[in-house]
Amino acid sequence: MANRVVIALGGNAILKPNQEATLEVQLDNVKVSAELVAKIEELNYEIVLTHGNGPQVGNILRQNEEAKDVVPPFPLDVCNAESQGFIGYMLEQSLKNSLETKGLTSNVITLLTQTEVSAEDEAFANPNKPIGIFYSEEEAKQMEQEKNWVMMEDAGRGYRRVVPSPQPKAIHGVDSIVKLLNQNTIVIAGGGGGIPVVRNEDGLLKGIEAVIDKDRTGKKLAEQIDASVFMMLTDVSNVYINYGKENQEKLETISVKQAQQYMDEGHFADGSMGPKMEAAIAFAAQGKTAIICSLEEADQALLGRAGTRITG
Ligand code: ADP
Ligand code: MG
Repeated sequence: MANRVVIALGGNAILKPNQEATLEVQLDNVKVSAELVAKIEELNYEIVLTHGNGPQVGNILRQNEEAKDVVPPFPLDVCNAESQGFIGYMLEQSLKNSLETKGLTSNVITLLTQTEVSAEDEAFANPNKPIGIFYSEEEAKQMEQEKNWVMMEDAGRGYRRVVPSPQPKAIHGVDSIVKLLNQNTIVIAGGGGGIPVVRNEDGLLKGIEAVIDKDRTGKKLAEQIDASVFMMLTDVSNVYINYGKENQEKLETISVKQAQQYMDEGHFADGSMGPKMEAAIAFAAQGKTAIICSLEEADQALLGRAGTRITG
């Protein structure tokens, strides 16, 4: 069996800060990202690709909100599905083009993925992930009453809706993903953390208003398909301790134990490097390898020549 890797693309692989979210701009970024993923295919890995969707799902929510008097808005699970479709399409097409240019015959398939979470997850009692547009205090009160949304003040910039961010419990469709990997296919799955679903009282799946962290979903995917490596590609070359301070120090290869100690000492910010390191540590602890590196150096990092590597 070829080595199996799950690659989680960070937000910068699709849209960089301060860029306008036109299709052209996003497609240009995705083409560059696809070229880098194709280099990993050349290294002869079985690849599952996952990705973030923050700005894209934010814009879908905004479209819903702006047009709510004309077209009924859709709930968050559907918005995630829309973003997986849109981003998956861009990635699938760009990656296929990159592969063909390199003379590689692999197929690329996007799988709209449901991520099951527990209805009892403590995140449901404590929604804390801000999403969508900003509202005035007055509008925020109205939303709380009309839609039962939980609204929170966001750093003096206005009010935003906050939603639960539960832990992924099971990624659906994994058996099919493995079959596709065995047939020379790169699978794009679990985008934006996947469509959040729970089991109802009858044990049936249903969508739910939540968002799931893409690095947590990537880790779960990597476990379920028995990948040997889980990579998170982002906009920094390495993980650092004392990040942003004068004495910051780049981490190269570190043990799970060392990584956990730095985590406990608070070196990794909540909402950015924190969830990545949490996922990396939990994955590597199973005797595997987790890598956090820049998008540009992904192939080098896989060869052990760049990035931060956590080994179990
Ligand atoms: P992504 O879209 O790739 O998930 P995030 O913004 O969530 O991107 O995470 C990457 C960011 O984490 C970096 O741009 C960096 O500013 C931030 N970061 C926080 N703590 C650290 C750290 N200790 N070392 C490196 N980067 C860190
Ligand atoms: Mg992130």
